[in-house]
Amino acid sequence: MEKDSVMLIVDDVEMNRAILTQFFKNDYVIVEAANGQEALTVISQQTVDLILLDLVMPVMDGFELLKVLKKTEKFAEIPVIVMTARNEGESEVRAVELGAADFITKPYNPAIVRMRVRNVMARMENEWRKIEAAAQRRQITEMRHFIERDTLTGIYNRETFYTKAATLVQNNADVPYHIIYLDISCFKIINDLFHIETGNLVLRTAAAYFQTLVEGNGLCGRMESDHFALCLPMERVNMDMIMQGLDNAVQSLSICHNILFYAGVYPVDNVFQPIDQMCDRAHTALNTIKGKYTTRFVYYDESMREMILDEQMILREMEYALEEKQFCLYMQPIYSISQHKAICAEALVRWIHPLKGLIAPGRFIPVFERNGFIVRLDRFVWESACQVLRAQKDTGAAVVPISVNVSRLNFYNFDFLDTIMGLLAQYDLEPWMLKLEITESAYTDNPHQLLAVMRQFQEHGIKIFMDDFGSGYSSLNMLKTVPVDILKVDMSFVQNVENSDRAGSIMKNIVQMAHDIDTGIVIEGVETKPQVDFLQNIGCDNIQGYYFSKPLPVKQFHALLAREQGVK
Ligand code: C2E
Ligand code: CA
Ligand code: CA
Repeated sequence: MEKDSVMLIVDDVEMNRAILTQFFKNDYVIVEAANGQEALTVISQQTVDLILLDLVMPVMDGFELLKVLKKTEKFAEIPVIVMTARNEGESEVRAVELGAADFITKPYNPAIVRMRVRNVMARMENEWRKIEAAAQRRQITEMRHFIERDTLTGIYNRETFYTKAATLVQNNADVPYHIIYLDISCFKIINDLFHIETGNLVLRTAAAYFQTLVEGNGLCGRMESDHFALCLPMERVNMDMIMQGLDNAVQSLSICHNILFYAGVYPVDNVFQPIDQMCDRAHTALNTIKGKYTTRFVYYDESMREMILDEQMILREMEYALEEKQFCLYMQPIYSISQHKAICAEALVRWIHPLKGLIAPGRFIPVFERNGFIVRLDRFVWESACQVLRAQKDTGAAVVPISVNVSRLNFYNFDFLDTIMGLLAQYDLEPWMLKLEITESAYTDNPHQLLAVMRQFQEHGIKIFMDDFGSGYSSLNMLKTVPVDILKVDMSFVQNVENSDRAGSIMKNIVQMAHDIDTGIVIEGVETKPQVDFLQNIGCDNIQGYYFSKPLPVKQFHALLAREQGVK
């Protein structure tokens, strides 16, 4: 024991104090008090580590002092050893009830007194150690919580999810697990439309739902903003139920906005594959369905990876490709059966990639429509089409008009009309030479805006095709209000037209209807002689398709026109 521990001896009999002092003077700094009151004065003035307390004293006896000590927070922890006479059994019990740590019986046996004091002090030290250890543990738990958890939702953060999920799947290698990656569509809108707190509430609600979902058999974590991940044994994964439960939880918040979660699921097949890769794959799967209203979750398969890599290549290289003129036009004639010649041609873009060769528009147009780059590409195509027209005009022969595809995004640009009219002026062309193809589904987007712009074009003498007619949901109804000049019937209608009564009858009626409402009509995707014959028989003259010509490089197209005009 270090000598700087302080022992307070409280006894009204000086002799007793002297004896005890003798016992402990080598181990303790001794202070003395003759009654409870004096003892209180001492302990309020200096630190005391241990009190030896006589019970029977004048002014304030030992019981009174014990009561005061235990009531006063500052003093409550000081161990008190009570000194009693041999026949004071009752008093000992009472003293212990009042919080005394132990008692010593008079007359004092030095060995026993020392031992008791040592025991009490050791016990106290032990208690302190325990308290300190508990505090340390609490601190560590709090720290760990802070480091491991996402501060907004309280569930694991990304790093922790990765490590814990890796341990979970590796320690249970015989259990098949699934990694599920979830994301809210257009979460930004929720933050913009409402308060950021509303967005946070949605995230916390979703997190709480995930937490109950994985309780006891899996893990969940917040990856970033509105992205979450779950790791669950396969047998616990019922995606319909999971998504339904999530919808219910979020709908219970009564936010007036359609909040839709999407999920990608990656079935773990190699437990040693890094979890972040598994999450990436689940995320990749999710990205293939984002924006679709009917599909809310999808399982990962290898082809998706190819698709995403392809898309990344497209996004990385598009600007450079446009600058470097890797995009070029192919022309596909629209043919008049009765006149045996091209009466128009559609400009179709191709990407001639220096390493990958020719890339069809089906691969890159949807990507550009998602990121807006299509507006720039379309402009490049329109200008190129004008150059082709200019070249035709320069030969002095009759110009065959060209139709260009117009992505719906152009309708949101106020200078759309000016751009087209500007190009016509720049290349000294007439409005009838350039036609616009607007895909049927664009008409459902924002009909008012679209109609207004369409009318302006028509007033300027530019004709409009409704492309892919019949492929959407409301084609017929739309015809009542949309003043298109020519219907371009989707290529699915021409299939089987020559050998199926039903297909034939439908085609016949479409052609009849176009005549009735005084609209031009072109049938796309005509590939065989029987189809041509059928169409001719029902009075349909204009066709486009491989039967007559595939899309041709511009040079070949010019050659074809030259041949035809020479023939004429
Ligand atoms: P679309 O406008 O419906 O173009 C017709 C597509 O059908 C073309 O495919 C054409 O090559 C193909 N085709 C023509 N005749 C036949 C046939 O007899 N049989 C079959 N099976 N197919 C035929 P392509 O060139 O691959 O274009 C695909 C789509 O890409 C186009 O569909 C159009 O929506 C879009 N696209 C092409 N160029 C442009 C462009 O410059 N701008 C925009 N916005 N979209 C474009
Ligand atoms: Ca088209
Ligand atoms: Ca089409």
